Amino acid sequence: MRKVCPALVMLLITIISTNCTNIKQPTSSPSTFTSDSSASSVSRPIKADQIKAPEKGKLSVYFLNVGQGDSTYIKTAAGEDILIDGGKNEAGPIVVDYLKQLGVDDLEVMISTHPDADHVGGLDTVLANFKVSTVYAPKVSHTTDTFKDFLLAVKNQGLTIKEAKSGVVLSLEGIAAKFAGPVRAYGDDLNDWSAVLHLTYGDNKFLFTGDAEKKSESDMIEAKQLLRADVLKVGHHGSNSSTSAAFLKAVSPTYAVISVGHNSYGHPTSAILNRLKASDITIYRTDLNGTVTAISDGNKISFVKVK
Ligand SMILES: [Zn+2]
Repeated sequence: MRKVCPALVMLLITIISTNCTNIKQPTSSPSTFTSDSSASSVSRPIKADQIKAPEKGKLSVYFLNVGQGDSTYIKTAAGEDILIDGGKNEAGPIVVDYLKQLGVDDLEVMISTHPDADHVGGLDTVLANFKVSTVYAPKVSHTTDTFKDFLLAVKNQGLTIKEAKSGVVLSLEGIAAKFAGPVRAYGDDLNDWSAVLHLTYGDNKFLFTGDAEKKSESDMIEAKQLLRADVLKVGHHGSNSSTSAAFLKAVSPTYAVISVGHNSYGHPTSAILNRLKASDITIYRTDLNGTVTAISDGNKISFVKVK
């Protein structure tokens, strides 16, 4: 029988045990999701980014990375909280995680731009976790369970929905916030029903468009709504349906933020990206940059991105 060198055996054991140790190393930190019972069985394709708390005395706008969908959280300089949309159903716990990371205790205003699942989906989970003072939504309904869950969650907080439509003003300290849309009713075109919010803080202006499409865009222009903004949340995830040349001209933003994740619709399209680039607009995308934060001191706007 051949003798095996004991030193070689020890070396092999060392290599094997080292490899095993490496394999067993955790590859990520434990999840910090706060889940509710209704969402516990739902798969969560994305995790909340680690983001910085808002700076005191400044307006911070967080375009939250929720995968495909929209969710924007705004902390005003006076410390009030606004949430516009909550991403898909499975993004609900992620939005809750973001809000907890940012030290949010309650929300002064929640806006559901329209009943589509990639916007309203997570709002019921947010309502189950945070006290909300006022909920705004356009006067359009939908038959999906997702939308019914939202209505039930609003009811469970003892709230009634206030109508979001052009001309309605949010009474919040230190900012001017007014809905520019919807200007009229749009039948079954849920995207055009989108609540469009214009927000001014000092010299800085923001426009949040939901999924408003060209019809709503031209109606807002015709109705002479205040549209001009430094930062545009691009409509409908950068789809060709929105951001018409006339609308882009009316807004004339310096920055454009596209809230988008992996999708089969081809969002954002190269046509819209090219239209923005042709106007020298700086583009941020939640699929490429993670959560995008715009911070305004009322004079200048700076951006923070995760990647
Ligand atoms: Zn959408």
